[in-house]
Amino acid sequence: MAAERTIFHVDIDAFFAAAERSVDPDLIGKRLIIGGTGGRGVVACASYEVRPFGVRSAMPMSRALRLCPGALVMRGNFDLYRKLSREFMAILRDYTPDVQVMSVDEAYMDMTGTEGLYGPHEKAAADIKDRVRRELKLTASIGIAGSRLVSKIASDERKPDGLFTVPPGGEADYLAPMPVRKLPGIGPRAAEKLGRLGVRTLGQLAAFPEGPLRREMGNHAVRLIDRAKGIDDSELTLDGEAKSISSETTFHEDTTDRAFLEKTIAGLAEKVGRRLRRAGKHARSVSLKLRYDDFTTLTRHNTLPVSIDGDARIVEVAMGLLDATLRQRNAPVRLLGVGVENLTEPASQLSMLDTAVVDDSALSSTLDRIRDRFGEDSVSRGPG
Ligand SMILES: [Mg+2]
Repeated sequence: MAAERTIFHVDIDAFFAAAERSVDPDLIGKRLIIGGTGGRGVVACASYEVRPFGVRSAMPMSRALRLCPGALVMRGNFDLYRKLSREFMAILRDYTPDVQVMSVDEAYMDMTGTEGLYGPHEKAAADIKDRVRRELKLTASIGIAGSRLVSKIASDERKPDGLFTVPPGGEADYLAPMPVRKLPGIGPRAAEKLGRLGVRTLGQLAAFPEGPLRREMGNHAVRLIDRAKGIDDSELTLDGEAKSISSETTFHEDTTDRAFLEKTIAGLAEKVGRRLRRAGKHARSVSLKLRYDDFTTLTRHNTLPVSIDGDARIVEVAMGLLDATLRQRNAPVRLLGVGVENLTEPASQLSMLDTAVVDDSALSSTLDRIRDRFGEDSVSRGPG
């Protein structure tokens, strides 16, 4: 299996309304709606006091006020929200630099292996909630799980002021009783289609045969089934620079067809290579992700003596990893992914001389440039 991770999803409860209350306690307990008041105004944030009336964010304000006539509407103070948002993210970054900001009031944190610093994960989460309450006068809900997907569902489920951990291996059981709409990516239309198939819960979706589901929902269906089981190994996209670039695909049918697998690897490697070059980076290692039909998932890495950015080398290294993996176990494959990691700046011409950071596709032109600059005898192609 892939290495176990601990992801926190942290989300402030009814952020805009809570922010207004943090500076004006008289608003506490009032039926508060933040949003546009004009003819086509929309609800930006519904306080918990108006939610029992059916008021939700993104709803036209006119409808919200029909549902809850006495509500107090405020236009919102976005400078205040921005300031609180910055302070909120700074608190999270006190615990780990691996924070992926999703919106003003919501972020993922990769807390893998931080117990030595902060104690058990639930204690760290309680500390974070406590700081948010004391320093910002806001409440946050935190979901803890092995993936972004499950941690987000867990924090949403426990709002407001919630804290819940989904233990490793317990994802599918946790999701099973929930209605399909709880799964991010399943909107009203998809839920309706699933309902026609008799699929109302995530447990039913997880157990549904792939073929019929694909006929109704398209190729997207296979991924939905995996997600309904709580399978999500998407990486956090961290602020600033990407730490890795990867691409993966889930097959319509599990397969042992070697030629097909190799063709897939080549396609994924080229996609990754293109993104790597567009980012202006080189990579020191290549990874292969492979999921078998029984959902066992392996990630294999190969770190290279030189950094690369050419498709040919990425394909070659990924093929080698595929070969080694299938030699150990040649079972039907469900998913393949290729990634590049340990991203580095392209070597300067000088550092190239001592660390041999070269890319196969660019080698000749780089050698030419160095010869131009340092003279014909300054470099020669060494033995690999
Ligand atoms: Mg929120």
